[in-house]
Amino acid sequence: MSSPKNIPLVVVGSIGLDTIATPRERRTDLLGGSASYAGVAAAFFTRVGLVGVVGSDFDAAHLALYRRCGCDLAGLQIRDGRTFRWSGVYEENMDNRRTLSTELNVFADFAPCLPPAYRRAPFLFLANIAPALQLHVLDQMRPPRFVMADTMDLWIETARPALQRVIRRVHLLTVNESEARHLTGQRSLLAAAHRLLGWGPRYVLIKKGEHGCSLFSRRGVFQLPAYPVPDVRDPTGAGDTFAGGFIGALAAGGRVHAAALRRAMLYGSVVASFGVEAFSLDRLRRLTRRAIGQRARVFHRMLRVD
Ligand code: AMP
Repeated sequence: MSSPKNIPLVVVGSIGLDTIATPRERRTDLLGGSASYAGVAAAFFTRVGLVGVVGSDFDAAHLALYRRCGCDLAGLQIRDGRTFRWSGVYEENMDNRRTLSTELNVFADFAPCLPPAYRRAPFLFLANIAPALQLHVLDQMRPPRFVMADTMDLWIETARPALQRVIRRVHLLTVNESEARHLTGQRSLLAAAHRLLGWGPRYVLIKKGEHGCSLFSRRGVFQLPAYPVPDVRDPTGAGDTFAGGFIGALAAGGRVHAAALRRAMLYGSVVASFGVEAFSLDRLRRLTRRAIGQRARVFHRMLRVD
């Protein structure tokens, strides 16, 4: 695949086929993975270089979807073997989720290799994937202006030393509430965030599902509620979609400062609120930048207090 000249944002993470059961429905072999959600969400705002691996069983229609959404695929490898697969089940509250199975498949021996243009990208999102792979990508880049990383319980339990090396080298770490507690052993989110800030990142962004998100820095905390969605059909990938919308909006502006970070949180929340209205990327693939703008204005009015 030919490499483009200018990529403002590189996203690396998992690309997979998910089987998901909610209390109402069960769906198999859905397009998923942290990079799928994050890359497509970010591409509403800026051009994205998607880095990952899929197997020979991966449907070409999914590749066409990424391209249509504005993702460049020069860093996507297609290998002999099966695509990454994950399966999870939601409890009645649609919040608690249990992983039933994870098959790494082609991810087991994946070595990301960045096209030259990607190495100069100013923004990098290390979406949820093995920390060793996140480091491998980081090592190939000219130091980006802004690096953000996500992770999950599995890596906290099985790859903590590599994960801590990642955390030391990023500007922003994003985790959910339970991961923040698990990583630090602190019950209070404020204490957990301060412990994480002490490990290196300038910002810690804690996702709290339907309760919104909080951005911590040494200068204080900014909190945003989630945009209220009346009918959540499938929350899978909400955190990745939020993170993708966030870093996409930030990369589109090009500069990182307090107001840009707050605005990016608002856009991340809006894109995530669309994503959970349907399974997989079904809502995101039909979404327009105009609909995002409209919901962002409604959300902004909702947040006014004077
Ligand atoms: P989220 O709901 O934001 O936690 O993201 C769910 C997505 O993460 C699904 O589409 C899965 O394919 C993907 N996923 C699940 N387990 C892993 C893993 N161990 N590594 C990378 N991605 C994963």
